[in-house]
Amino acid sequence: MSPPRAADVVVIGAGVMGSAIALELARRRAGRIVILDERHVGEGMSGRSSALVRMHYSFRSEVELAVLGLRRYREWTEWTGAPPLLRQTGFVRFVAPGEVDRLRANVAMQQACGARVELLEGEALARRLPGWRLDDVGLAAVEPDGAYGDGARAAGDMLARARDLGADYLPRVRATALRQRLATVQGVETTQGLIASALVVCATGPWTSRLLDPIGCRLPIATELHTVAVVHEPPEPATARLACIDSASRTYFRPDGEHSWLVGDFSGTRDVDPDAFPQHPAMDALGSLVSRASRRCPGLGEGGIARGYTGVYDMTPDSRPLLGGIPGIDGLVVACGFSGMGFKLAPAIGVVIAELIVDGHATSVDISAFQPDRFSRNRPIRAPHEYADD
Ligand SMILES: Cc1cc2nc3c(=O)[nH]c(=O)nc-3n(C[C@H](O)[C@H](O)[C@H](O)COP(=O)(O)OP(=O)(O)OC[C@H]3O[C@@H](n4cnc5c(N)ncnc54)[C@H](O)[C@@H]3O)c2cc1C
Repeated sequence: MSPPRAADVVVIGAGVMGSAIALELARRRAGRIVILDERHVGEGMSGRSSALVRMHYSFRSEVELAVLGLRRYREWTEWTGAPPLLRQTGFVRFVAPGEVDRLRANVAMQQACGARVELLEGEALARRLPGWRLDDVGLAAVEPDGAYGDGARAAGDMLARARDLGADYLPRVRATALRQRLATVQGVETTQGLIASALVVCATGPWTSRLLDPIGCRLPIATELHTVAVVHEPPEPATARLACIDSASRTYFRPDGEHSWLVGDFSGTRDVDPDAFPQHPAMDALGSLVSRASRRCPGLGEGGIARGYTGVYDMTPDSRPLLGGIPGIDGLVVACGFSGMGFKLAPAIGVVIAELIVDGHATSVDISAFQPDRFSRNRPIRAPHEYADD
């Protein structure tokens, strides 16, 4: 079947973002929607995501997006028609004594945004996390709704629903260039010909610059390689199987099913090629990652490393996404630069980008601070109570 030659909106990229946007546009009956991917749905970075869901952020709009994202994930069957996606584990975020006041302020803000979160310290924290090493912890925020999902499945479920509602999906079709005239988008050149459209959404993750640089749209996105280890459950299973983000060891970890855990790193190697990055981390790198996390949760390394893999973050200078139109290019909307936080936000990003396209502005959450040109205007996002590792 030959691809459609024209559309009202073309969405480039069928990861969690493009799929969520296509779904929400289709729900809003926004005309003929075409979504294309040079791979297949979820085969980009969404399929490599640790897919942790938490509401603990320091910038209000981020928290609001995470709360809306969680609500959609919890209503998954109603929203997509697919079986439930999330596995609830609970989540804990620790801070050192020097950041206790920030944590308190952020938790108050998160509660005002509708997040369920409580503060724990001392004996109460030790009772909640038996066996964990907590002597350097100043204060902890615990979210009972913390959970994890599956990025490839999330993208697939949302795309399937978008197609039920009439969106066209073109797998294995690459957008090679944006066609524009007098700074107005006219369509997308693809490996299967031109698709004419006055509106194009780029949800192309770490591949965004490759597509947009040639039209002079230079977004500040750096690629960053991240390593993830999968470890077997220790012989003495951990008594508290919570997801955790730990600034002290600069790791995060979470249960992965009943018999294993995922362990990931805060930092990574900059400027990798998303088309040719190392797929298999060295065993000693995995070993040192797991041993760092084991300082917080002793025993985590005792079950042995099952395997490891890598993925690429699309990082922005303030580690927050780029959302919205590009000044000077009519008809182009971007949703990229998610800086390692995109899974939990994706269903909410679908909602706000569809609102922006259909209604002219996002109403569910104020996304104006995420404008893609904020760095050239010297307006990076700074949260009032930002952590040293935000
Ligand atoms: C290792 C790792 C761990 C993570 N852990 C978490 C976590 O715990 N919690 C969390 O919330 N987030 C996490 N993230 C981040 C989250 O997974 C991403 O932010 C999210 O998946 C990004 O989705 P996306 O749709 O923007 O990008 P992608 O899933 O990468 O999708 C982009 C798609 O665009 C397609 N594409 C690109 N260029 C073109 C073109 N020119 N033509 C056609 N198609 C094109 C690609 O093939 C790809 O399928 C993690 C990410 C990684 C890599």
